[in-house]
Amino acid sequence: MKNYDVIIVGAGASGLYCAINAGYRGKSVLVVEHSKRIGRKILMSGGGRCNFTNIHNGPKHFISGNEHFCKSALSRFSVQTFVEQVERHDIDYHEKTLGQLFCDDSARKILGMLMTEIDWAGVEVQTSTSIENIDKTEQGFKVQTSNGLISATSVVIATGGLSIPNGGASPFAYNIAKQFDIAVTPLRAALVPFTLPPESLKFLKPLSGVSHFATVTTEDGTAFTEAMLFTHRGLSGPVMLQASSYWNSGENISIDLFPNQDCLEWLKTQRDEKPKSELQSVLSQHMTKRMTQTLLEYWQMSGSNFTGSMGQMNNDKLEEIAAQLTDWKIHPGGTEGYRTAEVTLGGIDTNEVSSKTFESVKVPGLFFIGESLDVTGHLGGHNFQWAWASGFCAAGYLG
Ligand SMILES: Cc1cc2nc3c(=O)[nH]c(=O)nc-3n(C[C@H](O)[C@H](O)[C@H](O)COP(=O)(O)OP(=O)(O)OC[C@H]3O[C@@H](n4cnc5c(N)ncnc54)[C@H](O)[C@@H]3O)c2cc1C
Repeated sequence: MKNYDVIIVGAGASGLYCAINAGYRGKSVLVVEHSKRIGRKILMSGGGRCNFTNIHNGPKHFISGNEHFCKSALSRFSVQTFVEQVERHDIDYHEKTLGQLFCDDSARKILGMLMTEIDWAGVEVQTSTSIENIDKTEQGFKVQTSNGLISATSVVIATGGLSIPNGGASPFAYNIAKQFDIAVTPLRAALVPFTLPPESLKFLKPLSGVSHFATVTTEDGTAFTEAMLFTHRGLSGPVMLQASSYWNSGENISIDLFPNQDCLEWLKTQRDEKPKSELQSVLSQHMTKRMTQTLLEYWQMSGSNFTGSMGQMNNDKLEEIAAQLTDWKIHPGGTEGYRTAEVTLGGIDTNEVSSKTFESVKVPGLFFIGESLDVTGHLGGHNFQWAWASGFCAAGYLG
């Protein structure tokens, strides 16, 4: 039976980064990955360009049952540390928007950097290998894999969440938690497009492909301002993905199509300047013509009559129109689920794990890192920063 200091289950962002840093500390490390290839989500991330971190990263960009849990690791592993590593590997990158750093070329560069360092750190990686059983022993763990029986002082669970099931995702972390009586918080798909019920979709589907800058607010008062996108299933775009992480089934979302602008004042000015113009043509200065026409028809179907020339509209009417444009309530039918979600909300209960070492409180030597934990980042590179930070910090306490 081969013995390692550390066995890491999952060769994704957090597992690879943890392995590299444990290897640099002189530990013998084996990474076990059940897929044929490693780092698949890194390759598919950021539309193939990997949004690998965010210069504004901080605890406020994470959702967790314990908002303080992520603070320690984020402060011990800075964005700058990862960016400097990217620069040392001559990977060109740019800030796209809102502090999001993307590769100029391809996400392959980030995976290439990790593989180079895996090599430098002397880490062994076994792909197409599944874990059949993990047993706690006095010295550590016995792990039965499809490649044979191995043992280790520490085992790190870095198998991520449930999103993109055909990309290697599995409930492994939650199953291990159950085996060792470790609590898991409720799980659901997040950073995921909304679907619309048939009655709304019938009207809004023709807008598929149209995008608009908007503020979206969920019922708990959380608001994001970014682009929204109509799709043939419902609503997507960064602002909708962000909102989905705060949305609960059955709730409404509110859409402000005039973010950072006083819509009522704008309408009054338009009335003064263009009294003969129809509302539709006035609104077409702000949204596409197709979007204006479709929304006015949709709202008319729901009982609001916004036809007529601007000059005919009194202040009450303009207030009604402004309210519709800035607080458009939509009732999503659901989300597209794990099939397209970027992340899983919820995970290993943070009360069960040390925020300093990532070691299980109940099972010494067992560690959980990355997305498997109940720590979920906002869109924009925060989830990878969490994967790097948790992997790096755990590496300091292994084996
Ligand atoms: C389409 C898409 C785009 C994304 N884009 C971005 C982005 O641009 N920026 C960002 O910050 N975040 C992005 N994310 C989120 C980000 O990819 C994840 O949060 C991050 O990869 C989590 O890292 P992890 O190591 O915890 O898990 P993962 O990267 O998911 O790695 C888990 C690994 O464990 C393996 N595994 C699972 N089960 C087992 C098992 N039973 N045995 C052995 N191995 C197993 C998996 O195959 C995988 O290799 C994106 C996600 C998706 C789906």
